[in-house]
Amino acid sequence: MTPDTPIRAAVFDIDGTLAMMDKASGTFTALPGAVAALAACRAAGMAVAAYTNGTFFPPEHYYPRLAAAGLDFEPGHILTPASVAAHHLTRMGMKRVMVFGDEGTAVPLRDAGIEVLAPEPADGPVDAVLCGWTRHVDVPKIEAVCNAVWDGAKPFTTSSAPFFAGANGRLLGISGALAAMIHNVTGQEVGLFGKPSPLGLEMIVALTGVSVDAIMVIGDDPELELRMAREAGAFAIGVTTGLHDRAAFNAIEPAARAHVVLEGLIGFADQPWFETREGAT
Ligand SMILES: [Mg+2]
Repeated sequence: MTPDTPIRAAVFDIDGTLAMMDKASGTFTALPGAVAALAACRAAGMAVAAYTNGTFFPPEHYYPRLAAAGLDFEPGHILTPASVAAHHLTRMGMKRVMVFGDEGTAVPLRDAGIEVLAPEPADGPVDAVLCGWTRHVDVPKIEAVCNAVWDGAKPFTTSSAPFFAGANGRLLGISGALAAMIHNVTGQEVGLFGKPSPLGLEMIVALTGVSVDAIMVIGDDPELELRMAREAGAFAIGVTTGLHDRAAFNAIEPAARAHVVLEGLIGFADQPWFETREGAT
């Protein structure tokens, strides 16, 4: 399978795709072939970005830690769902946003010039409520965000994943649980910014100036970045270095399935579809 359009931008997932994080130290180790893959994309004239689906940390957290593993990114080219939220909330004219989450969710909004409100009774109108990962959940906060939605704030979440992999098994997808709670209480549909929403790729298009059919997305999760890629019309490349094997990629319905599945990033630039793009630079 080769893309119809020469590829001009590459978007890599981080965990399980480019690198593995040591849960104890928080440091990253590049997966085999990852450093060379980034270099090959740049040598072929592509824009290169990383997009992780977590909101534990703001993007700033990742730059030095990935660089220490040999994975360098230009400023503004590491994204989280909170970055995507900040980009789209700004475009939607949302100026006052109540964040039900921690600093990983709040920082990108503040950096974008959005007024971030804590989940407590607000003075004046609230444009939107945004759920992110947090362990700081209590009834007064739930009441505050639901009251804000009843009063007209639009509800959004950074993730709808029910759980994700942790060092000791499943970790709750708290953003999605908060979103489900808001929906159950208020009846409002809760908008999703994180993967698999194609809004992440819309931001990449704005960031790189590359049209979505000329973007390739590389990731280890068939339900997240690869579903996002297919829905948006990008070229989707799965890798089996994370949590999912080839059978898991093949279990996805054909319209949302990765175009190509690789054992990892070793020899990434030697693939025939990579040469297709390189010839167009
Ligand atoms: Mg991953």
